[in-house]
Amino acid sequence: MANEANPFESLQEQIDDASAYIDADDGVLERLKNPERVLETNLTFERDDGSLETLRAFRSQFNGDRGPYKGGIRYHPGVTRDEVKALSGWMVYKCAVVDIPYGGGKGGIEIDPEQYSEDELERITRAFATELRPIIGEDRDVPAPDVNTGQREMNWIKDTYETLENTTAPGVITGKAIDSGGSEGRVEATGRSVMITAREVFDYLGEQIEGTSVAVQGYGNAGSVAAKLLEDLGANIVAVSDSSGGIYNPRGFDARDVKAFKTETGSVSGHDEAVEEISNEDLLTLDVDLLIPAALENAIDAEIAEEVQADVVVEAANGPLTPGADDVLTGSNTWVVPDILANAGGVTVSYFEWVQNRQRFSWTEERVNDELEAVICDAFDGLIDAYEEHDTPNLRTAAYVVAIERVLDAFEQGGTWP
Ligand code: GLU
Repeated sequence: MANEANPFESLQEQIDDASAYIDADDGVLERLKNPERVLETNLTFERDDGSLETLRAFRSQFNGDRGPYKGGIRYHPGVTRDEVKALSGWMVYKCAVVDIPYGGGKGGIEIDPEQYSEDELERITRAFATELRPIIGEDRDVPAPDVNTGQREMNWIKDTYETLENTTAPGVITGKAIDSGGSEGRVEATGRSVMITAREVFDYLGEQIEGTSVAVQGYGNAGSVAAKLLEDLGANIVAVSDSSGGIYNPRGFDARDVKAFKTETGSVSGHDEAVEEISNEDLLTLDVDLLIPAALENAIDAEIAEEVQADVVVEAANGPLTPGADDVLTGSNTWVVPDILANAGGVTVSYFEWVQNRQRFSWTEERVNDELEAVICDAFDGLIDAYEEHDTPNLRTAAYVVAIERVLDAFEQGGTWP
């Protein structure tokens, strides 16, 4: 089990690392390292048996210098105030690195959603939406899905907000179902940017993605879509895992079949093509070309990083490497495509969804995917330019240099007042 680094401290360390390459006042850098405000609240709701229960919930609005706060809402027993603060900061720099006009935010409820019925989850979600109502809005703060939330929860939040505000405002939230104002391509978008950035980094290194061996830790939406799209490029998915364990086959799995198996049985374990059942840690240290951590923060600490054999790591999850792991992988010349670019497809298509909502117009899936490809490729090129120009130790620091400069520009152009 990896050491539990505090994700908020990890974020601040990442900003400190990049600040060495940026000409900025210490007083302004402090602003970039801390949220503007955090809502911490009680959600008291009725269980199906009539008893009352109270859950802790958070929404962190980290920085709004470039536009409305933007970022998902997660339901997980491990949610803490510091985790939500970190995730909201990562959203600021993610939106800046792909240059979409948003700030960053994040929300979470400390809950294991599997312990609750669908009716209870609806009451919990509507209670949270009621708490959020004064601070969210199409031009204020736009939530979205994250770990253990999806279209169902987004539709409930939209409906609660619109009912309480007596209006229609589909752009108050993204990641909705198509009939509730969602966008084509949104569900696959995070995995799609993981595929695009993996393809681009292999290309930058003068290698082909076709024929590479790939291990994917976490087989939820991001991991399974990335696996499927990489397989379509000719990569070989040799290992996948989820919270109950992993499976390995050096000849490779059919990524879609493994997903169907997980949907049916609840886990990837026990798939009949597996030649070996492996642990999550075994998966992370396999001798593969490409490793995709697609689960939660801190999956790889310094100790595990010492054992990582992959040449390239593409971060589908937010914050999967501790700062110690980052140092080890930098030292061993492992290429790490940072989360704030690799998984930015999700928020980029959220932005497209919001644009479509504001225009009351819908794009085809082809248009969404083409525009996403352009945004991610431009951002990748910008990151490589920064990496070469500043000679940063790794791609993460280059990404933060690009992103922080954009946030600083917006802040400085606005000026301080009064
Ligand atoms: N939760 C996703 C992320 O971490 C998507 C956020 C969004 O679409 O606003 O990037």
